Amino acid sequence: MNTHDKINELLTTFALGELSPQESSDVETHLAECPQCASELEELRTVLECADAMSRLSADEQTCQSAKQRIFEATASKQTSKPPAAIESIWRMIMTTKKFRLAAAAIIVIAAILGLAPFLGGTVTFADVIKPILNARTIVFDVVFGNDEASPVMHEEVAGSLIRRTVSNIPNMVMILDLDNRKMLALDTAAKTAGYVEIGKVGDKTQNYIEGVRRIIVELQEKKGDVEKLAECEIDGRKAIGFKGGNPKEKLTVWADPKTVLPIRVEHEIGQLHIVFKNFEFDRQIEEIGMDVPRGYTLDNAQLDLSDAAEQDLIESLRIWAEIILDGTFPDAIGTDHYMKQIAVLGQKIPRLDIPDSEKVQLGFKFGKGMIFLQKFEFGGKWHYAGKGVKLGNADKVILWYKPEGSSAYRAIYGDLKAADISQENLPK
Ligand SMILES: [Zn+2]
Repeated sequence: MNTHDKINELLTTFALGELSPQESSDVETHLAECPQCASELEELRTVLECADAMSRLSADEQTCQSAKQRIFEATASKQTSKPPAAIESIWRMIMTTKKFRLAAAAIIVIAAILGLAPFLGGTVTFADVIKPILNARTIVFDVVFGNDEASPVMHEEVAGSLIRRTVSNIPNMVMILDLDNRKMLALDTAAKTAGYVEIGKVGDKTQNYIEGVRRIIVELQEKKGDVEKLAECEIDGRKAIGFKGGNPKEKLTVWADPKTVLPIRVEHEIGQLHIVFKNFEFDRQIEEIGMDVPRGYTLDNAQLDLSDAAEQDLIESLRIWAEIILDGTFPDAIGTDHYMKQIAVLGQKIPRLDIPDSEKVQLGFKFGKGMIFLQKFEFGGKWHYAGKGVKLGNADKVILWYKPEGSSAYRAIYGDLKAADISQENLPK
């Protein structure tokens, strides 16, 4: 990078007076000899002044109007003369500045530069609030499955097709997913062991939860007019505006902060599953996500493969559920949300089992693999679980029937864990 580029990147931070004395002096030296940087700085200062005024807005209508006017003028001139790099540099500043007020101001500026209407007196649209979900280079958020507030929380850091995932009820586990190469690196941070898992195509649909959200957003944008604006309400103590849309199989609700126009909560109803995304952070600086075994970890060479998850794996997980987690009876309900809760329970029971260690490792894995197969019909197929109160071994009772998406045949699993095709007329209610 040459001096001009280097200094140019520093201009926003310089304008905010947040550079070190050495850096400031470098910038000043360059400004004296570079008319382009000098004029950009001038422009930047105007915008920041406006932003500053905006951030101190009172209820005073007059001030409000004039600030809007000034922002409008400043950004109007910027739109023609300023490359997107200006937005990048302001964005970087937001991410690093400790001066919250200025960060808030800069957010307003960016919004204005990007043409987000609300700051110029218009209304927030669906297209405004979904922008960061589609465009952010990194997204950090929490995912909760089901409607139960006490459910385990999955925390995700997503950068392109790489995901770093932790789950609140499995404290020592870090999962790193590389969706392009269809691999997962599972790290046990307590035992310092690492293992690679093949995730195959299952990763495309069921393991990349935010991609599922993007997919439906794109679909909603293509057939415009199907998004309903919801009444303003309060979400996690913040005022929020909402939008809802979808198709017969999926519904998406996006709640956003009307001031920042950033999403604060997304609800994805897919099949019978309700997925909640919250605590979003967009374009936060995150630690690089890599697929190499970290220093100090031992690689476990067990061949773990989720890519071929099949009915037999689901059956195996139901057996584990009834035999090990419960006392020989099938659970009241199944689904990703229920599996997520039980994984921790199983984790506590496994060490006390009288089986070889190698089998113990496999048990947790088999249970998870069953969930992966379940997701194949949970996310879009038809299914019904009726195992509540049924004893393991009861060959007369259908505990689960399902029809995978795109398949014409129904399958039934009985209380003795035998599986067979079943005709639609014979499906139990
Ligand atoms: Zn320059």
